[in-house]
Formats: sequence, C-alpha cells, structure tokens
Amino acid sequence: MTGIDDLPIREELKGKTPYGAPQLDVPVRLNTNENPYPLPEELVDRIAERVREAARTLNRYPDRDAVELRTELAAYLTKTAGHPVAVENLWAANGSNEILQQLLQTFGGPGRTAMGFEPSYSMHALISRGTGTGWIPGPRNEDFTIDVEAAQQAIAEHRPDVVFITSPNNPTGTAVEADTVLALYEAAQAAKPSLVVVDEAYGEFSHRASLLPLIEGRPHLVLSRTMSKAFGAAGLRLGYLAADPAVVDAVQLVRLPYHLSSVTQATALAALEHTDTLLGYVEALKAERDRLVAELRAIGHEVTESDANFVQFGRFDDAHAVWQQILDRGVLVRDNGVPGWLRVTAGTPDENDAFLEAVRDLKKERD
Ligand code: PMP
Repeated sequence: MTGIDDLPIREELKGKTPYGAPQLDVPVRLNTNENPYPLPEELVDRIAERVREAARTLNRYPDRDAVELRTELAAYLTKTAGHPVAVENLWAANGSNEILQQLLQTFGGPGRTAMGFEPSYSMHALISRGTGTGWIPGPRNEDFTIDVEAAQQAIAEHRPDVVFITSPNNPTGTAVEADTVLALYEAAQAAKPSLVVVDEAYGEFSHRASLLPLIEGRPHLVLSRTMSKAFGAAGLRLGYLAADPAVVDAVQLVRLPYHLSSVTQATALAALEHTDTLLGYVEALKAERDRLVAELRAIGHEVTESDANFVQFGRFDDAHAVWQQILDRGVLVRDNGVPGWLRVTAGTPDENDAFLEAVRDLKKERD
C-alpha cells in the first residue's frame, strides 16, 4: 500500500498528522467550542429565502469583493466592538482559518517566520507550516497569561514576520489585556516591523471589550473574527478580519478569485439580520461558562480564568486517561495536549449538568 510518505510531498509535511479533533458520535459533545444552540427557526427560514434568491443567479460567479457582506460585518463590529469600521476595513473568507491562511500567504511564506504564545490555537502553527512559514513558539506564564517581558525578548531575538495573539486564548480561555497587545505590537515594530494578528474568535464571550479599537493608527495590527462561535454558525464557514484598508488590499494578492460562494454570502447576510437573537444565546452561554467554572472549583478542580465559551480544568497526572473516563460516561471533552489539563465547551444547561455529573462521579471514584 502506498503511504503519504511514499508520495513526492514537500519535505516539511513528511511524517506529520493533520488537524483532527475527534468527531465521535456520543450523547454530549463538548469538545470543539461549538455553540450548542441550533439557529432559531425564523433565521432558518430567512436563510432559505436568501439562498433561494441567490440560487437564481448561481450561473454567475459571486460578488468577488463580497461588498454587501463586508458592509454588514462592518456595521456589526461598529455596533458591538466599540470602534467604527467601514467596508474598506473588512475582509471575509471561508472561516477565520482561511483569513489566517491568507494573512500568512501574504505576510509569511518561505524564508519568513511566525510566532505564537503556547499553548494556543494549534492551527496557527499548522497554517504556518502549510504556507511554508517557519514557526516559533513563544512563552507564557504558569497561569497561562502572556509573560510580556519574555515575549518582548523573544520577538526581539527572533524578529518574526507575523505575531499571533489569541484573545480569549484557546485552549486556556485567557483574555489578553490591551496594554499587553500594545507592548507586543511596539516590540514587533521595533524588531522588524511585523504584522500582529489578534485572533478574537471568541471575542463575543469575553468579560472585556474587544481589542478592535487598537487598529486605529496601527496599520500592522489585524483583528480576526468568526461567525463559527457567537453566531452559532460553525457549519457556515465564515470568518473575517478588520484592519487598515491597506491590509485588505494586500490579501487580494493571494485570495482565490470568487472564494466566497453566493450561498455563503447569502447565508451570512441572513444571520447578520438576527444578531440580537444570536447575541442573546451568547449571554446564556456566558452564564453557563461561569457556572462551569464555579462548579468545577466546588468539586475541587483547578480552573483557568475563562473569557471564552469553554473552560480549562485540571490538574490531572494523566489528563488523557481522565479524558477517556469522561468519554466512557458519554461526554466528549477535549485533550489539547496541555499536560495536566482538559478543556470543556459550555453547552446547554442539560449538557453541562451531564458533564458535571460525570466529573463528580469520577472524583468520587478516585477519592
Ligand atoms: N481561531 C481560534 C482561536 C479558534 O479556536 C478557531 C476554531 N476552533 C478558529 C480561529 C477558526 O475558526 P473558524 O475557521 O471556524 O472561523
């Protein structure tokens, strides 16, 4: 049998494994930070309506510049993220993963490097590899906040072309203070200058304001967002960035023509008409997240402060064994490979009860 490594693939891909959160069929799935609430019925109807309309012109390519969608995304951010942005500040793609890929294709690439502070979202390193960009892991404190001084030193030493800051961070849930972003931005400008990407995929779940206002007067700062989490639309595949218009112009150099289908654009526009309802679910999820933190602590676990729709809990001598034991009780959580810790996504109250029951049960067994 031919294996991958028997093929003439790029040297740096040999022996590597693809991104792969297990998609297992179990009663309670709390492992990929999805929103547990299906879209409301009136939004489903509106999507059907708008897609039906789009279907009438599917013989034509979609709006290559997605102007209507970018205008509505700009209006959404202006309303919710504390800073006015316009269509020329916005760019959209198939999930924020594609946004990150386009940024790395434009600002990274062979002979260039990207840095992120680990543990963080593993795709930052994987998309770097996929685009031929070297990856440099940066440091964090014991409590998973960014060690500003060590980070500044790492940036000065390695002079990366792209710096990722994830806030709230995945898998730890840790929010990054605006002062930290500014300190790292200054360090990155002094070292290179480089592009600083703030990945705010979980921004809507944070106790703190968005970092969006920081893009003002900082043309090398990019904010990345997604409709996969707060909008409950992971299946839609819609991510977007906000930045100086020059950054939007720059990613045009690498984006595929007509990358965002008419069906995607129509669906996203329908969802944006229902932001008030969807943000209502976000409030419910934040309350459930806070309940998970409180109850896990009451059970006796260590829990990392969370500003996201998930919670990192521990500590375990063998986190993977505990992951399996929770799975044996019908609940799928995530082992992100952070030694001693597991991550659980905030689900519906019933799903969270099932998870807490499994954890209590396990704790009793061990005591
Ligand atoms: N950034 C972070 C920090 C994430 O956790 C995720 C999804 N897990 C993404 C980006 C990508 O999300 P999507 O491509 O669905 O927008």
